[in-house]
Amino acid sequence: MSDVVVVLNAGSSSLKFTLYEDRGEALGVLADGQVEGLFTEPRFKAKDGAGKLVGERTWRAGMQLGQEGAVEAIFSWCRSEVCSADRIRAVGHRVVHGGLEYTKPIVVNREILDDLEKYVPLAPLHQPHNLAAIRNIARRFPDIPQVACFDTSFHTTIPSIAQAFALPRTYAERGVRRYGFHGLSYEYIASVLPGIDPEAAMGRTVVAHLGNGASLCAMRGLRSQACTLGFTAVDGLMMGTRCGTLDPGVMLYLMDECGMGPRDLETLIYKESGLLGVSGISSDMRTLLASPDPRAAEAVELFAYRIGRELGSMAAALGGLDALVFTAGIGENAAPVRERVCRYAAWLGLEFDEKANETGGPRISREGSRVRVWVIPTDEELMIARHTRRLLIGLG
Ligand code: ADP
Repeated sequence: MSDVVVVLNAGSSSLKFTLYEDRGEALGVLADGQVEGLFTEPRFKAKDGAGKLVGERTWRAGMQLGQEGAVEAIFSWCRSEVCSADRIRAVGHRVVHGGLEYTKPIVVNREILDDLEKYVPLAPLHQPHNLAAIRNIARRFPDIPQVACFDTSFHTTIPSIAQAFALPRTYAERGVRRYGFHGLSYEYIASVLPGIDPEAAMGRTVVAHLGNGASLCAMRGLRSQACTLGFTAVDGLMMGTRCGTLDPGVMLYLMDECGMGPRDLETLIYKESGLLGVSGISSDMRTLLASPDPRAAEAVELFAYRIGRELGSMAAALGGLDALVFTAGIGENAAPVRERVCRYAAWLGLEFDEKANETGGPRISREGSRVRVWVIPTDEELMIARHTRRLLIGLG
């Protein structure tokens, strides 16, 4: 019987899972799904490898299932419907912050887990939930080895000048520097780009990961040279509910003149800003694109404009641009957003192909365009599964 690797992606209100079966040369998806609404109205859904709904369960409204309950629900479903317990060889986790020390995926033990807690203040929306998932599994299934894969690891190649803030040195020594995130997504794109555009793989590429979280990564020869996300996951682009780059003076103004404290500011910049804050309607790009409200159109325009501006900065870091890749929920699906971004980037020598964009590409630049533009679906879960298998089962 082949080994099964479980990949978990733990958020504040949901726990997503994917089950991979080791098929020798490759990893095949056996099932995937999630428990949503962990503290409101929990819902479990699972699909098989072909995308057919194979499991569903709901709990009453107000039920505090929590992450522990979600782990229990997922694993008992897996064991009754998908595979026996002894086939589950490992669990791989997405962990958002590995700081300076954790530059590669690692098999987690108690000591490492305790140490990773120190990054909670740097990623308050994600890190506590990522670590809680590892603890929950360790408590419930102490014999299953677990691997942590970090969203920061891919960016350890960023040159020191691109890591630095212009603050007194003592803060840099305390770890106040740009780390970069969405690394598992960028690593996946880097793994498939040579097969799609070998020249870009050797050259200068910017990857635009545009989901609820959004960032750009500048790569030279598939190695990260800069990222719009920095010390925390709130810098750079405008996101679903996060503001992205903000004049630090705005924070001081809000404290002095509006009486806001650190927690109020945290809520403002992480949860109330971005597409949601600017539109006043929704953080969801689909909703905004479908809305006739001019505030929705303004939010979408600002989203694209900010990408256009930051793309110029990434191209400057690379000394030019050979290719641009769109990925994640918005990047893969929102043709109107891609079109706007490409219009802002025309000055870089990017000739946009409207028809190809409407049908999703994969190439959405015209033949002969100096900058080639691609739409490539990302797969962070597969990246985690590959790392987990390599570390625990000894296969690449
Ligand atoms: P996360 O960062 O949570 O993984 P995703 O990568 O799933 O997020 O991206 C979610 C975003 O993608 C949402 O804003 C959603 O509206 C957008 N999106 C998904 N499908 C479409 C679509 N068909 N058209 C426009 N936007 C889409």
